Amino acid sequence: MEYFLTETQKEVRDLARRFAQEKMKPVRAELDRSGEFPHALMKELGDLGLMGVYIPEEYGGLGGGIMEMCLVVEELCRVDGAAGLCYAACGLGTFPIILGGTGEQKQQYLPRLAAGELAAFAITEAQAGSDASNVKARAVKDGDAYVLNGTKQFITNGSVAKVYSVVAATSPARGARGLSAFIVEDGTPGFSYGKIEDKMGIRCSKTSELVFENCRVPAQNLIGGREGYGFIHTMKTFDRTRPGVGAQALGIAAGALDESVEYARTRVQFDQPIASFQAVQLMLADMAIAVESSRALVYEAARAADAGVKNISAVASMAKVLASDTAMKVTTDAVQILGGYGYMREYPVEKMMRDAKITQIYEGTNQIQRLVIASELIKGTAW
Ligand SMILES: Cc1cc2nc3c(=O)[nH]c(=O)nc-3n(C[C@H](O)[C@H](O)[C@H](O)COP(=O)(O)OP(=O)(O)OC[C@H]3O[C@@H](n4cnc5c(N)ncnc54)[C@H](O)[C@@H]3O)c2cc1C
Repeated sequence: MEYFLTETQKEVRDLARRFAQEKMKPVRAELDRSGEFPHALMKELGDLGLMGVYIPEEYGGLGGGIMEMCLVVEELCRVDGAAGLCYAACGLGTFPIILGGTGEQKQQYLPRLAAGELAAFAITEAQAGSDASNVKARAVKDGDAYVLNGTKQFITNGSVAKVYSVVAATSPARGARGLSAFIVEDGTPGFSYGKIEDKMGIRCSKTSELVFENCRVPAQNLIGGREGYGFIHTMKTFDRTRPGVGAQALGIAAGALDESVEYARTRVQFDQPIASFQAVQLMLADMAIAVESSRALVYEAARAADAGVKNISAVASMAKVLASDTAMKVTTDAVQILGGYGYMREYPVEKMMRDAKITQIYEGTNQIQRLVIASELIKGTAW
């Protein structure tokens, strides 16, 4: 199915597909084993221009949108969901600047990010997970700077990114309306990295604490130049990056389906390929149906975002839920189709199953997404 992609979108997709096959596939098992961050792959993605597909042309990007980002994420994750996440998390760190940044902020940071500098986004803290606005990190204005104190946790690309979009409270008594977002650069005095997590999957992606101790951030790095908009920037970003998590999950599921079909064609039992057994055929068919429905919804959400549809929260959440639940089911079924070999590290599907799980958890768990969808339905703003 072609989904009426433009010629540019097809080129972007094909470039990412070739890169994933030629550069990522040979190293994915080793990256999973070592947990080393894939610096070389990220540099090559930057050199190819793929880091800037969603950044406006005037800032050195390709001028695409969420759809182009999703196509790249899907193709990378079809081969390696972990290295694909390292790419996708840059979008999460960059969109607050694209959507909410001042002209100067865009001019200062977007060309660097388009050229391949890594970005990250930080709202989560120990007590602020699903309850995302319960942020305790403080930002206090002091002359021409804000002084940040607090600790962020579980930050993807933490410790490897150069540019961070960080949410902190400027008016704690105002709750979500008292949050503001700041651009903080790696190397800023008072900004350091804490614990780096040891994870089930997405192992080459770095998940780290960010520690702010009297960290002075120039006042001009307050995103949008106005206090109190940090949670709005976050929600607008999530509406655009949740289809991206959907694309990550979709890619992982599609990769597991690829492996399953290939294995079923070649694995012989009872003197015939296991693909000739109806029990296996039915599983493959169900996996394909789930993958294709996820693709349709992820692309729909991405296109709605790019078309400027006013309220995309419900469709963005639906895309994330459907694709991530699909990724978990399809990767588990892939392990089943490969039988005992599927359980072994020598074959890629056990890694895909481990990588899939996180897509049901981050950028809002799937329970939280369902609450978002229900709330939009009840308000009558879902479509
Ligand atoms: C590998 C990884 C990478 C991450 N990357 C980033 C990042 O780059 N930036 C960032 O800011 N954050 C990041 N996160 C944080 C992530 O978004 C949170 O972990 C996630 O939102 C869930 O929060 P929590 O872990 O505190 O779970 P909790 O909020 O404690 O939830 C625990 C359980 O309770 C359920 N629950 C909670 N509240 C409700 C409710 N009201 N109704 C129904 N069920 C509920 C949840 O669905 C879940 O099943 C990352 C997390 C991980 C694990």
